[in-house]
Amino acid sequence: MVTTQLAQAAKAYPKKHLAWVTAVSGLMLIILAVLPAPPASAKRTTILLSPEINNPPSPQNTLSTLIPTKPPSSPAEAKPQIHWVEQTVKAGDTLSHIFKRAGLSAQDVYNITHYSDDSKTLSHLKPGQTLRFDIGKDKQLNKLQYIESRLSSTLYVQRGDRFDIEKTTKKLVAFQKYSEAIIDSSLFNAGQRAGLSQNLIMELASVFGWDVDFALDIRKGDSFKLIYEEMHLDGEKIKDGGILAAQFINQGKVFTAIRHESGKNKGDYFTPEGHSMRKAFLRSPINFARISSHFNLRRKHPVLHTIRAHKGTDYAASRGTPIKSTGDGKIVYAGRKGGYGRVVIVQHGQRYRTLYAHLNGYAKGARSGKRVKQGQTIGYVGSSGLATGPHLHYEFYVNGSVRNPVTVSLPHAKPISANEKEAFLLHATTMQEQLVAYAGTIHPTLASNN
Ligand SMILES: [Zn+2]
Repeated sequence: MVTTQLAQAAKAYPKKHLAWVTAVSGLMLIILAVLPAPPASAKRTTILLSPEINNPPSPQNTLSTLIPTKPPSSPAEAKPQIHWVEQTVKAGDTLSHIFKRAGLSAQDVYNITHYSDDSKTLSHLKPGQTLRFDIGKDKQLNKLQYIESRLSSTLYVQRGDRFDIEKTTKKLVAFQKYSEAIIDSSLFNAGQRAGLSQNLIMELASVFGWDVDFALDIRKGDSFKLIYEEMHLDGEKIKDGGILAAQFINQGKVFTAIRHESGKNKGDYFTPEGHSMRKAFLRSPINFARISSHFNLRRKHPVLHTIRAHKGTDYAASRGTPIKSTGDGKIVYAGRKGGYGRVVIVQHGQRYRTLYAHLNGYAKGARSGKRVKQGQTIGYVGSSGLATGPHLHYEFYVNGSVRNPVTVSLPHAKPISANEKEAFLLHATTMQEQLVAYAGTIHPTLASNN
């Protein structure tokens, strides 16, 4: 059965991933063997999970001490007799300007643009790029190297009365890295101590942001661990890749997220069981708003001064603050409605309905019958209807019954599709095993997010 599952996984996953899985599984034992027992006081571990089997990562290969390997020299550079003259493209430069600076003539510009197989490339010079010249004793241009970026360059080689061209394209190599930390004060501080870039910390927060409020829920002793990608070129880190798998423990609750790529969906995160990390609804329709009045079925109405159920949550915000639809759906009503004033009602599938009241105005295109996406602005905060001041009154209905929007359990967004599920579960198991195997100091019991 294992063979069958692997074969299916091979079909469903990009080759790159499989290569990683293989390389990393092979390395796991080596790494475990070379890793010293972590000191009890250690707060973090960062291990470079290199794809180069011949060069197994050592504990010294932490983010801060990662030493770039020497870039392999190009064939041209290998010949010692060449003396390259280098010119950097400046704003407003033309090929003629640069050739002149290099001590070449207008004839040389003419020759290279008329007697080469690709003169077009040289007409797209951008400031900051580099041109390298190999000029002979008689001031003839032997070679020209146009370095477009760290990833691509073009070499023009003079042969007789023509220039042959050689294009070089390099690819970024993805390296897997593992990192973990225990939180003292904030996710940001812990992330920095663990050597994570600001972008990665933000990404980590957004992966778990549906379950954990990083402003309010974080406690000292919370922890995280993650496997992410780093993009390298010639042994040097160029940029971060994405998070492949991560675990966050918040007040003893364990959340695990595994990245899954399918078709146009580039990297969505799911629980190891295949549920989306995202929820079908945002918890709040306004960013960073203060709740001014809670859901309360026996409340004295501030305007009517009678006991009247407060069937929603009020968010205090200044007039004009954008209001977002909390889920994908269809506007079923956008207009005035008694005490609600200007109101938008969105239907989300059969079961769910949300209501946004006291609007100052509607967003462009927010009309009855229009489809809306989660997070799309549908209107602006106002005080229309029975309102003492500008605020949003938000209601949440499940099967026609009103619920407290702050505490109602929100359904997950779409799970892994049925035809990808088997391969995903296999992949998720592997990634979870890696998180456990690489953990330096934290060994939480693996648990599901549910
Ligand atoms: Zn209200």
